[in-house]
Amino acid sequence: MEQPIKKGLDLNRRPMPKQPVEVRRHNFEEVALGYDARLAMEEASRCIQCKKPGCVEKCPVEVDIPGFIQAIADGDFERGVRILKAKNSLPSVCGRVCPQEEQCEGGCALLKKAGQIAIGRLERFLGDWEAAQPDFMLPQIAPPTGKRIAVVGGGPAGLTVAGDLVKLGHEVTIFEALHKMGGVLVYGIPEFRLPKRIVEREVEYLRRLGVKMVVDYVVGKTRTVDSLLEEFDAVFVGSGAGLPWFSEMPGNNLNGVYSANEYLTRFNLMRGYTFPMVPTPVKEHVRVAVIGGGNVAMDCARTALRMGAETTILYRRSREEMPARLEEIENAEEEGVIFRYLTLPIRCVGDERGWVKGLECIRMELGEPDASGRRSPVPVPGSEFFLPFDAVIHAIGNSPNPLIPQTTPGIEIGRKGNIVADPQTGKTTKPRVWAGGDVVTGAATVILAMGAGRRAARSIHEYLTNPSEW
Ligand SMILES: Cc1cc2nc3c(=O)[nH]c(=O)nc-3n(C[C@H](O)[C@H](O)[C@H](O)COP(=O)(O)OP(=O)(O)OC[C@H]3O[C@@H](n4cnc5c(N)ncnc54)[C@H](O)[C@@H]3O)c2cc1C
Repeated sequence: MEQPIKKGLDLNRRPMPKQPVEVRRHNFEEVALGYDARLAMEEASRCIQCKKPGCVEKCPVEVDIPGFIQAIADGDFERGVRILKAKNSLPSVCGRVCPQEEQCEGGCALLKKAGQIAIGRLERFLGDWEAAQPDFMLPQIAPPTGKRIAVVGGGPAGLTVAGDLVKLGHEVTIFEALHKMGGVLVYGIPEFRLPKRIVEREVEYLRRLGVKMVVDYVVGKTRTVDSLLEEFDAVFVGSGAGLPWFSEMPGNNLNGVYSANEYLTRFNLMRGYTFPMVPTPVKEHVRVAVIGGGNVAMDCARTALRMGAETTILYRRSREEMPARLEEIENAEEEGVIFRYLTLPIRCVGDERGWVKGLECIRMELGEPDASGRRSPVPVPGSEFFLPFDAVIHAIGNSPNPLIPQTTPGIEIGRKGNIVADPQTGKTTKPRVWAGGDVVTGAATVILAMGAGRRAARSIHEYLTNPSEW
């Protein structure tokens, strides 16, 4: 039964303080500044504490949302953190990047009146409040079980599985290919949306719990999954979706054409925007085109803009169909990113030195909805036109990382190069190997990767403490 909404409710979501647009478009510091304690308590006090909370139903990791909101309203932030962290080990991350509008906030009883509780902002508040305390609140760790688990990949899926298993008394080692833990949270999502110190702190928390971490270690090259299975009782693969797609058009091999991964990694992981303080040069472009309409495209465009380029997003459908979070589209618009809708690039045009000098595009119109439910873009014959750019970034999607699928005999691989795993347990077709996150689903979201990590941890624990047939 729906929760009745009483008259006289405060339906005003407390706005998020942000850096002024004229300032933030020139720096890489965080855009949203977060609630202070007073704003958080005011916002939390608006929650009507539904008996059957729709927000919890829509949360992939089943956080007791009314519980932590009530704790904030009572001013008991420590209790709030305890409730939140019982289910979500990365609250400062999720509070910043989860698509809350589709998940928890989409189930809020106040949504119909447009006064839905700002659950993500409150989650972020608690995560940041805890981070500001002198030390971590460490949970109880079960006595050692003598079981050893290898986790491949230090992204949200791997970090979650590791945290859950170490608390149950198992010995966990994460093997990460890059020199830093965090996965897309460190190499993909920019500092102005998710400061790296937050991810570092969450990683440090896991280290304090006893998780071992080995970086610069490429499973499938340095050592295979089969070889890990000789030493470990179980292996969890959370190697993500790091293989970028390019739209198939002539000219993609010109200089100045990037994948979103390459472009973002140079800035986020290598801190190229502080060059020459760091030794990662980044080219300063004048006019940058970003092809795509998701969060990755917004991140590329807002990064290029901060580097001083006139930046244009080219998207083949209209604003309504854009998959990026509305908040990020609005931020990009405010900051001055140019949006060209119903535009499809069909060729990168180069100069005599092999550098890109622009894109030949064609205008599109929207036809009938396709399998995704979005209206399909249809080219308008004869509408080709040219736009000048000195850099083109492809941000149209990613596939699962192919190395482990290719080097692990006996593991079933799906049509799109993903590892096939049971959605309830994360079990793959290879005994003692579990998988979860983007490597299974294809590019998805942080919270879904964490949910998969949580379910796999439960299944690994059950299997190791009570082995059954695979
Ligand atoms: C630019 C960008 C912006 C995004 N914005 C959002 C957002 O706003 N909200 C949201 O919810 N989601 C967002 N996402 C998606 C989200 O980040 C991913 O869904 C999530 O990180 C997937 O987690 P994962 O642990 O499965 O993989 P990843 O985060 O990709 O982590 C996988 C890790 O495995 C490592 N690895 C890969 N192969 C090997 C190997 N062979 N050996 C050892 N290590 C290996 C990789 O180096 C990486 O560190 C964004 C993604 C990108 C690229």
